[in-house]
Amino acid sequence: MTQEKIKIKDVTPQQFNPKTHKGAADRFNPSNRIYVRAVTGIYQQLRRRMGWVLMVLFMGLPWIPYGDRQAILLDIGQQQFNFFGTTLWPQDLTLLATVFMIAAFALFFVTTFLGRVWCGYFCPQTVWTFIYIWFEEKLEGAANKRRKQDSLKLTQSLIVRKTLKHIAWLAVALITGLTFVGYFVPIKTLFVDFFTFNTSFSATFWVLFFTGCTYANAGWMRSIVCIHMCPYARFQSAMFDKDTYIVGYDTQRGEARGPRPRKKDPKALGLGDCIDCNLCVQVCPTGIDIRDGLQYECINCGACVDACDETMTRMGYEKRLISYTTEHKLEGKHTKVMRPKLIGYGAVMVAMVGLFFVLLSAVSPMGLDVIRDRSQLFRENNEGLVENTYTLKILNKTQQDRTYQLKVEGIEGIEWYGPQQVAVAAGEVYTLPISLGVDPYELTTPIVDIRFTLSDSSDDSEPVVTESRFIGELR
Ligand code: SF4
Ligand code: SF4
Repeated sequence: MTQEKIKIKDVTPQQFNPKTHKGAADRFNPSNRIYVRAVTGIYQQLRRRMGWVLMVLFMGLPWIPYGDRQAILLDIGQQQFNFFGTTLWPQDLTLLATVFMIAAFALFFVTTFLGRVWCGYFCPQTVWTFIYIWFEEKLEGAANKRRKQDSLKLTQSLIVRKTLKHIAWLAVALITGLTFVGYFVPIKTLFVDFFTFNTSFSATFWVLFFTGCTYANAGWMRSIVCIHMCPYARFQSAMFDKDTYIVGYDTQRGEARGPRPRKKDPKALGLGDCIDCNLCVQVCPTGIDIRDGLQYECINCGACVDACDETMTRMGYEKRLISYTTEHKLEGKHTKVMRPKLIGYGAVMVAMVGLFFVLLSAVSPMGLDVIRDRSQLFRENNEGLVENTYTLKILNKTQQDRTYQLKVEGIEGIEWYGPQQVAVAAGEVYTLPISLGVDPYELTTPIVDIRFTLSDSSDDSEPVVTESRFIGELR
């Protein structure tokens, strides 16, 4: 058995050191703020590109039209979710539940395989935080400079630069808030109305709410969200094992750490490859020292890998003293990629994807609800037939106007009183009261099951059948 539990040790530092970020206990104190140092490298490039793709998708998707509507519109008021011409109604929520289950198992699968890469590369909290850090860096200077100037008295130039930074942060937050709300209300109208002060109270509230959340989370709270608020950070450990790819420090190679002249042979000095430059700590967005071992704060962003590679290259040492690796690899053992837990998560995910497509293919473009009139069980009409009254709710789930045909089966010679062809506007529910009449001699029991059928002759979709009952008196 290769998957033993990962050993735990307490690495909580006792005092905060702003240079090394150590001292988690006092992290809420503003003077102990983490000044994240910018770094370049292959993983940061990858993360930046992923960030761009996600931003373009997030910002662009609600602007894509489909027919005369927005391609993606989650219209909560009308209880309709529109996705590129397909409209999902509350009746189709099992489909949405399947999407959530696919997402959950995909997350379990990826976490078991690659650790918290979701957090490091895809999570909006990380993407937005790095955007905000970019503005900070451009307007206030590098991390060291920021730390120094924040400890001194405010100068006029710093006030101007800080004000510009907050304006930029708020602008990003406002666009984020507007775009997010634009998934729920038509985005073009929302943008025009918002800037002309014509939005409704609820739209204004939600735009300002999400603006505030973005500004606070990415500007001020940053790692506090990842470490203390995100539930994912808490349950990830249940998925980790010694074969999970994590960001790890090669202790065997790195220790004993310590500074040394570049030209000197570290072995002759009794040192390992770590020169104790602290760069890996200074670039860490959650402020941890990965040399202390795997920690739940680590979001697998790879910034420390790039930072350490830079140092190793400068020193003329081999790269990847810090790398994406596994606990087993760090112990000099074999990493087993295909293992029961991973295969299990993958299998359930694939099964859920299959179920999703089965459910999707069964989604009907129309719906029929039949409500039997309960105030009167039955009555005899002037033709001598037993009559029952029903209210039909005909739902057009498509984005085009449709004409539907209706019929009923279940009793010989059943009469239909009311229209059997109805035109229903796109996305509307049409309410149709009708009556059915039956010769009492045709009734074999006082309660007979009947079937209403709704069909659309303009396309080849399957008719919708809804069952109901006819009640009468036997002769
Ligand atoms: S330890 Fe490294 S990978 Fe983990 S969060 Fe910090 S910088 Fe990112
Ligand atoms: S960046 Fe590399 S060399 Fe520098 S302290 Fe971190 S592990 Fe050591």
